[in-house]
Amino acid sequence: MSSHSVRVRFAPSPTGPLHLGGIRTALYNYLFAKKYGGTFILRIEDTDRKRFVENSELYILETLKWCQIEPDEGVGYGGPYSPYYQSQRNNIYRMYINKLLKQGDAYYAFDTDQEIDKKRKEYNNRGLVFSYNSRIRMDLNNSLTMTKEQLYDKLRSCSYVIRFKIKPGEKLKMHDIIRGNIIVDTNHLDDKILLKSDGVATYHLANTIDDHLMKITHVIRGEEWLPSTSLHILLYRSLGWTPPNFAHLPLILKNNGKGKISKRNTDSLNFPIYPIQWKVPKSQIIIPGYRELGYLPEAFVNMLALLGWNPGLKREIFSLQELIHFFSLEKIKKSGVYFDIKKTNWFNKKHLNKKKEEIFSFLFKEIKTRSILCKKDYLWKIIHLTIDRIHFIHEIWEHSFYFFVPPNSYEENFFNKICHENTILQLENAKILLYDMNQFTSVNLRFLFHTIKNKHKIMQLFRLALVGFLKGIDIFLILEMLGKKESIRRIEKLINRIKEKI
Ligand code: GLU
Repeated sequence: MSSHSVRVRFAPSPTGPLHLGGIRTALYNYLFAKKYGGTFILRIEDTDRKRFVENSELYILETLKWCQIEPDEGVGYGGPYSPYYQSQRNNIYRMYINKLLKQGDAYYAFDTDQEIDKKRKEYNNRGLVFSYNSRIRMDLNNSLTMTKEQLYDKLRSCSYVIRFKIKPGEKLKMHDIIRGNIIVDTNHLDDKILLKSDGVATYHLANTIDDHLMKITHVIRGEEWLPSTSLHILLYRSLGWTPPNFAHLPLILKNNGKGKISKRNTDSLNFPIYPIQWKVPKSQIIIPGYRELGYLPEAFVNMLALLGWNPGLKREIFSLQELIHFFSLEKIKKSGVYFDIKKTNWFNKKHLNKKKEEIFSFLFKEIKTRSILCKKDYLWKIIHLTIDRIHFIHEIWEHSFYFFVPPNSYEENFFNKICHENTILQLENAKILLYDMNQFTSVNLRFLFHTIKNKHKIMQLFRLALVGFLKGIDIFLILEMLGKKESIRRIEKLINRIKEKI
């Protein structure tokens, strides 16, 4: 592939926030462009004004920024092929539609919705399926079935659409980089509308013309567009253009096996669907995205990249630069892929592991707001000891608070169970052991405990005394970190609580 010629586009319609599938499409386009030193373009496909949702465009731009996959060209970035909004390009589309009309590859259709409904019923009653296609069009109200005079008359007085005239009887060969060769029988295609009655081009026409004029070399998009590709290829041919290469990405499926993820079925999902938060228009509702929930963009992008693509290596953690390096369209899967939130959290954990400075600042702020004083070294030690337990930066406090503050309360069930004289005795004895130690290190403590009776019970009691719960890192490390004085103080506090209770 001659490198500088690669031009790809992400072409969302501004119909709301992006969901996982949408942002993955953007990511694959970005990775492919960067791999070949090409250009990644953002085009807004806003021909369908009825589906327009305010703030979608801002959302898209902010999401791409957060993921660090910003376009080189297009809406918000400018470039030699502007405008990059389809709503501003309608005069271009009209020029080409005239060409198609002149060539006889498109025709005017005047059928009203009622007329079409009537025909549909007629066909259904005869046990046939109605479709505006090469078999039925001669039975309908269009420029193919009227004289020139009738046509001029109609054009002056009626509203109309312009349809593409499919030539039947061809086995159209198409190639998809992911799916291989595909053959489509043009007898099965209908005459799609290219220009709507309001004079605005439809997606099919606008998309094809723009991809050609913007010199797009590879169309990388969702599988839902595969059935439209035959029409697009026929349009390229009628306009005398060479089509770009196509790669249709697999669907992202819900892991309960119940269909694909889409903007319309977010309610039934038990995981976030949006990359960043979405403010539902005209309401106070804000739906948090991965960003707000504490996922790192690096982790989110790494997870998304592997959702349908695999470089065939053993490792799974990649930086954006590495993803670019290994990316290839040929290694994208054909079949749908399952999204897994647990795996996503795992990616976050792995990437968080490389963010020790950020965790340090976060923890530092936490202790500052609580007016706790502590040495930097101590903080670093705590981070090293607890980092493997956290998936999100905000979890660091709940996994490390006991290094800074003694527990205020104790896990109820366990506390109630151990509330008797015998526990007090055991704790008093263990306390003496600690007291007598010279070097209060985890190694020595472990060694000492190895020899005592009831060691498991005592270790649990210590954990309750020091942490308040039966959670936390290795108990000997906790003891060492807190030091002899503080550990004994907390054990005494527990003894007192038990005494109060019995
Ligand atoms: N506007 C289409 C969408 O929102 C783009 C399809 C394409 O990439 O060709 O999915």
